[in-house]
Amino acid sequence: MATPDLVTMDKIVSLSKRRGFIFRSSEIYGGIGSSYDYGHYGVLLKNNVKAEWWRSLLRERDDVVALDSAIIQHPRTWEASGHIAGFTDPLVDCRTCKLRYRADKLEDGQCGEKPSKRPGEGPNCDLTEARNFNLMFQTTVGPVQDEGSTVFLRPETAQGIFLNFKHYLQFARKKPPFGIAQVGKSFRNEITPGNFVFRMREFEQMEMEFFVPPAEADKWYDFWKQARFDWYVKLGIRPDHLRLRPHDADELSHYSSATSDVEYLYPIGWQELEGIANRGDFDLSQHAEYSRQNLEYVDTASGERYLPYVIEPAAGADRATLAFLCDAYDEDEIEGETRTVLRLHPALAPVKAAVLPLVKKDGQPEVAREIVAALRERLQVEYDEGGAIGRRYRRQDEIGTPWSITVDHQSLDDRTVTVRDRDSLQQDRVAIDALPDELERRLRAPWRSPKGS
Ligand code: ATP
Repeated sequence: MATPDLVTMDKIVSLSKRRGFIFRSSEIYGGIGSSYDYGHYGVLLKNNVKAEWWRSLLRERDDVVALDSAIIQHPRTWEASGHIAGFTDPLVDCRTCKLRYRADKLEDGQCGEKPSKRPGEGPNCDLTEARNFNLMFQTTVGPVQDEGSTVFLRPETAQGIFLNFKHYLQFARKKPPFGIAQVGKSFRNEITPGNFVFRMREFEQMEMEFFVPPAEADKWYDFWKQARFDWYVKLGIRPDHLRLRPHDADELSHYSSATSDVEYLYPIGWQELEGIANRGDFDLSQHAEYSRQNLEYVDTASGERYLPYVIEPAAGADRATLAFLCDAYDEDEIEGETRTVLRLHPALAPVKAAVLPLVKKDGQPEVAREIVAALRERLQVEYDEGGAIGRRYRRQDEIGTPWSITVDHQSLDDRTVTVRDRDSLQQDRVAIDALPDELERRLRAPWRSPKGS
């Protein structure tokens, strides 16, 4: 059983807005459905999520290489990949309330007239037959709009990787098993976006295609399922809020022989955070056929040639950021006041340390500035001298800053400061000159959520 949580999506939305993590896009015009902007701390947090993803693949391994492919690709890409024919969701309209729903997710919808009922269950519901709706955004390139100018905004980053597979065989000096990883925006004209950044029409993916000899596909599928699950645990998600769920046969995509989702227990229930699929040689063989290029790998030593199979861990940077925010959100009581605190893994925290002079005089701001200058070479730090110290601590707690460094009158005598821990609230005195090393040591130490599991 998972630990009961006090976090709700409303609390996350409100904290995100209050502290400038994430807010509705185009608010001065009344907002636009399901588009969100990331503010300062949101950018820092999501960048850290992406950086940890890159680190786990590029720095900690030597069999994965990076790519940043274009969003607008040759339109044939989407014929070959099956997206033009098959990247659809079933759509139903209600003739009474004129709302639209995904026919396969009616249980998540609300009747337009009676919100307590599901679509189709209200007394006046009159749903149409389901029809398929293609989720790709279509646009045109060049000044003349004719048939040849239609292009699509990519609905996934994966295809850009397959289009470049041949290049990588030539210049990356890699042979299967090896992976190509990419992070970037994808676009889907979702019928029912919602739940904050969980389902948007414009979102960021973190995908890796791992090319393997066909006989090794099962082994690598198991490997990546576990490795991706462990990545979230290592970054502090409570294991009882995470699970791996294998797809049933009728859920599998047309290209996949096996898929498992890493699911997180969001405030809206268990939902997909990331999918790990065994795509076989579907993509490479489709692109080989449509492009008339040979995309086989040829082993120069043995002469063996084959189309590699592909294991794909496909994660969402926004869904991951949302999961980290939900898992970190906590409230406790300090001196009779409720405190909101984000218990983020220090590696993910937008700001690692806040430097706070106790008072705005007596040489304390100068010492604090000196500390900021020394720390900023290694860590994201913030200087704050405004208002009561307790209030400044709360502000840092709300954005998840793990350590607050306070300069007080003693600091000017003995060049020490206090380091306050966000979670334990313990304050240690540390020599100013030892601070950079001490904070880096703490940052690298293994970390578990104090919310318990
Ligand atoms: P779902 O079933 O929730 O629509 P999916 O199975 O279509 O998701 P994939 O195609 O496997 O999603 O995409 C990989 C990852 O990209 C997902 O696990 C998710 O983290 C992210 N993702 C997909 N669609 C969206 C979206 N509309 N908004 C935000 N993230 C998304």
